[in-house]
Amino acid sequence: MQFKRPEHKINLNPLQRGGILTKEAREALIEFADGYSVCDFCPGRIDLIERPNIKKFIHEELPEFLGCDVARTTNGAREAKFMVMHSLATKAKKKAWIVVDGNSHYSTYIAAERAGLEVAETENTGYPEFKILAEKYSETIEKTKRKGEVVLSVLTYPDGNYGNLPDAKKIVKISHSYGIPILLNCAYSVGRMPIKMNKFGADFIVGSGHKSMSASGPIGVIGMKKDWEPLILRKSKRFPNKEVECLGCTSRGASIITLMASFPKVKERVKKWTQEVEKARYFSKELEKLGLKQLGEKPHNHDLMLFESQIFYEISKKHKKKGYFLFHELKKKGIIGIKPGLTRNFKLSTYLLTKEELDYVINSFAEIIEKYRNFIN
Ligand SMILES: *Cc1c(COP(=O)(O)O)cnc(C)c1O
Repeated sequence: MQFKRPEHKINLNPLQRGGILTKEAREALIEFADGYSVCDFCPGRIDLIERPNIKKFIHEELPEFLGCDVARTTNGAREAKFMVMHSLATKAKKKAWIVVDGNSHYSTYIAAERAGLEVAETENTGYPEFKILAEKYSETIEKTKRKGEVVLSVLTYPDGNYGNLPDAKKIVKISHSYGIPILLNCAYSVGRMPIKMNKFGADFIVGSGHKSMSASGPIGVIGMKKDWEPLILRKSKRFPNKEVECLGCTSRGASIITLMASFPKVKERVKKWTQEVEKARYFSKELEKLGLKQLGEKPHNHDLMLFESQIFYEISKKHKKKGYFLFHELKKKGIIGIKPGLTRNFKLSTYLLTKEELDYVINSFAEIIEKYRNFIN
């Protein structure tokens, strides 16, 4: 079997842009490619290994970066959500609920389902901005409390469809006013933009190494307030050194090594977030000049954007490749990352692309529209 990926100059896939390895991580990856490669000097738990210095990373650098008291790595953002939900479910008396925003990722629902929790969601404001308003949390919490115990609120920050950044501080306050802890799902923000859990006053923060921290993964990060440590990181009765929700150890091998190897660069790049937002806004404006429409918050505050395109949809109806024509046209220009088959609505990310690369993408879209001008009514 051959293991090859599509050749390309530019990848616009939001899932992948923040996970491209740094040079340092690519080198470390080879060195630590073997299974259990980090375990040469293990004192009994992954976060306590000092050669390489995972201990310093997890116990000093990561909490500082996340703005929390205690941090761990997990096997992904979803596993981080699950460990919190499962711990809280274990403590709850009967059928318990969580309240989530209406733009939540599917993995939030599945983590809750696996933990045996019911999910209530707030509405978003609908087309075209699909915003999450803080007030909706009060409404949804009030309603849900009548059905059972609410053990957690979750806010997706930003969400993975529109790249919207709701008023997290206000939502944290609302959740706390009902005595409910809150988790910030920052899969698309930790490692991209400067973000500190304590600035929002939240209880938990989760991030994704392979999505936004230039790690091979699978790896996630979780940060929490000290008060939650005894519950979430409770120890096994039988193996007093091992943490139950981590199943003893989590990310062991190339996943954590690439995360750590990229970390110095990741810490630097979040400082340049303003430029990333400026580029995203520029890109959005230029595509709108071509007749596309950016959905989600405007002006936009994140590199992930959803576009609506009546033009490409019209072309697709007459093109023999149907909806796949856009993917093929872009591919010919060395651009990948827009989901094959999509024309009417598609997501993309401008993260870490240069202005020149963005102009190349904008021009490519313009050329495709020009090429099929006669297909448009
Ligand atoms: C990608 C994504 C996740 C899942 O992250 P993993 O680290 O792969 O588990 C969760 N939430 C949101 C909002 C995402 O975009």
